[in-house]
Amino acid sequence: MIHYDIAVIGGGIAGFTAALRALEAGKKTVMISAGQSALHFSSGSIDVLGHFPNGEPVSQPFEAIPKLVRQHPEHPYAKVSLEEITQSLTWFQQQLSAQKVCLYHQEDNANHGRITPLGTVRPTWLSQGHVYQHRGPRRFSGLCFVAIEGYRDAQPTLAKDTITAQRDFASCPSRTITLSIPGAERLRRNRNELRSVDLSRLLAEPDAFDSLCEQLIAQSGPDELVILPAIIADVAGERGMDVLKQRTDRCFHEVPTMPPSLLGIRIETALQRAFASAGGVLLRGDQVTGGEFDDNGCLTALHTRQLEDIPLTAEAVILATGSYFSRGLNADRTQVSEPTLGLDMVQSPDRSEWRNDDFFSQQSHPFMAFGINTDNQLRPTARGKRCQNLFVCGAVLSGYDPVYEGCGGGVAIATGYAAAQRALAVMASAKEASHAN
Ligand SMILES: Cc1cc2nc3c(=O)[nH]c(=O)nc-3n(C[C@H](O)[C@H](O)[C@H](O)COP(=O)(O)OP(=O)(O)OC[C@H]3O[C@@H](n4cnc5c(N)ncnc54)[C@H](O)[C@@H]3O)c2cc1C
Repeated sequence: MIHYDIAVIGGGIAGFTAALRALEAGKKTVMISAGQSALHFSSGSIDVLGHFPNGEPVSQPFEAIPKLVRQHPEHPYAKVSLEEITQSLTWFQQQLSAQKVCLYHQEDNANHGRITPLGTVRPTWLSQGHVYQHRGPRRFSGLCFVAIEGYRDAQPTLAKDTITAQRDFASCPSRTITLSIPGAERLRRNRNELRSVDLSRLLAEPDAFDSLCEQLIAQSGPDELVILPAIIADVAGERGMDVLKQRTDRCFHEVPTMPPSLLGIRIETALQRAFASAGGVLLRGDQVTGGEFDDNGCLTALHTRQLEDIPLTAEAVILATGSYFSRGLNADRTQVSEPTLGLDMVQSPDRSEWRNDDFFSQQSHPFMAFGINTDNQLRPTARGKRCQNLFVCGAVLSGYDPVYEGCGGGVAIATGYAAAQRALAVMASAKEASHAN
């Protein structure tokens, strides 16, 4: 038996937030993480609230959240206070900044527009340093979309055509330039196989990086916004993009590419570095296959695929296994379930109610809000019984659609932080009770 103070299941943004907070409080913490998180597919910006569930756009997320939770008491934001939400986001920014990944928001806390790889503009709240925050009048003369020769995971021509159809950019001159990265040809195993991570490795070589700088200076203008697929990695935080800006004197907007998304990976590696330097134990590639509950609803042991015969035990457990995408939820023909610990689910038993009739409808599909319901302490139930030392956070929670509402990152950070706080409080009162006896 291996014993920890806190065990976190799942290594996405919610799991890392909870684990880092537990480590900060001095707890011996283990994280078991089966595979890649949604960060590998994300924009690397943190959405707090872009739309109400009825589609109404939100410009000031922190002013809108009280109305959201009044109208939707089942929403995960209703389980945490507004103060906890803002506190957790500030804390998260500080954690990342200590790892040299700086995240910025508008001074008045409003959402800004982020130009997406498809050329649409999506609201978000916190973005990395070389992501252009669109709001109010533009300060550049035109848009310069960068295509990389032979690279198919970014579609700048499509993005250019889409953005100029939008009101804010209708009168904005835009063009596409094509750059070639020397050596890219030798990385390609077939016509389609060239990924952002391959290019980033190549661009870590001085010759390739110099060539990129020279081509950018020659082909783009200093008063344009240069829209660059995220292909520059960083050894330490954002240094690669900072150097590119210094060397070229250009203003960039980094856009995520098809997965893997370097903007999301940048956040994940920063979280991993913070976790390791705080002394956390990471069981990467292992998977929790089940747990044992006692009659009081206490989770007494966790089983993992790799530590088959050696159960893990912890004073408190935090479940952060994500949604369908990360297998935190599982859907078959008859039901949606939580496969890791078999927790009770909020779902519709009638399969015809899982989605809207029009699959491409502009509304959220009901199945997106299925998941684990909790009390205000973020504790779920298992077979009808309230769990005492288990706390749930992130995309596995029910009651919201992270993508449609544009609140995935915010909910993951706020509930991850709150789950750790709740676990610490329960552990503290258990300790007090044992001293009293
Ligand atoms: C494709 C995509 C893109 C998105 N982009 C954005 C964005 O740009 N900005 C934004 O704010 N939100 C975005 N979201 C919303 C997203 O839901 C949240 O932002 C957030 O990333 C969810 O984090 P999480 O930690 O809850 O789950 P995840 O990131 O899904 O992580 C869950 C982790 O748990 C692991 N796991 C699952 N089961 C087990 C098990 N039994 N044992 C051990 N480990 C397990 C998984 O392997 C995974 O690593 C996106 C969502 C998707 C699906």
